[in-house]
Amino acid sequence: MKIEFFHRACGPRVIVMFSSLMAFCICFWVILNVFPERVFAETGPGVQWDIKPAYLSQGGICRVILKTEPESRILAVSFGSRNLVLKRLTDNTYMGLIGAGLKEKPGSKTLQVKVIQKGKHAKIVKIPVVIKGKKYPEEHLRVSRKMVEFPPDILKRVLADQKAVKNACSQVTKRIYWDLPFIWPVRSKLLSPFGLRRFFNEQPRSPHSGVDLRAKTGTPIKAPNNARVALVRNCYLSGNTVVLDHGGGLYTLYAHLSRVDIKNGQEVQKGQVIGLAGATGRATGPHLHWGVSLFGTRVDPAQFMDLVGQ
Ligand SMILES: [Zn+2]
Repeated sequence: MKIEFFHRACGPRVIVMFSSLMAFCICFWVILNVFPERVFAETGPGVQWDIKPAYLSQGGICRVILKTEPESRILAVSFGSRNLVLKRLTDNTYMGLIGAGLKEKPGSKTLQVKVIQKGKHAKIVKIPVVIKGKKYPEEHLRVSRKMVEFPPDILKRVLADQKAVKNACSQVTKRIYWDLPFIWPVRSKLLSPFGLRRFFNEQPRSPHSGVDLRAKTGTPIKAPNNARVALVRNCYLSGNTVVLDHGGGLYTLYAHLSRVDIKNGQEVQKGQVIGLAGATGRATGPHLHWGVSLFGTRVDPAQFMDLVGQ
């Protein structure tokens, strides 16, 4: 009788366990299909990857996560003509950033990952990345002629400023200074978006190379991550300007500061106050103009923060 009881009790238990297993499998299948971006769906020999978002927009940025399989090692990663410096996130996951300029032609570019598996020859995994065109908003303003045309001495200064900022952002430092996440230099309202196409008296000007964030004069501006100060300069248009080098070709830029608290070449920590907001240079009012440069190309700081920020 005891044995019979045991068997009768055991039957339903097996059914319950089987049902639980089935339910678990169904849940797992649903998770895989509903949230495919959460798993490394794409693989090549010895490496898996996840690119977010799935394509690059003009002026946009993508976060690339690479995961090596056991006994595999990444030797090099390139995107177009640029070699990426990867940030190691865990033992076998790495992160890189790729971007497209506002003038980048729509089409496709290749992300190449050179990987070696133990006992095998190195292989190159080619990952196509689609670049899509993007329409940015336009702003048409009527301004006085002196806002549009510079006298020769001013023009000379403006061009020298532009060259200095461009040079400061053009190096690709091998050291990665940053740690995830990045923080906003000031938490406030976005006054003017990246990429805004401005027309002064119907003459096209350079599109907005950063975002304008609301900040009263004297508001502390914080380093969004660890960095080395690449440039401190008083520029004609952008006023007191700071460029931070976060390593691997990633730079952030701050304009119109009323005070600068750091020196060229100095290392700064995430959250450290680098200066105070203001309206120096040519600004319609106090605000922070914040730019993000990747491999010498300006990308959208708002999208950058969506991907790597807090
Ligand atoms: Zn601006």
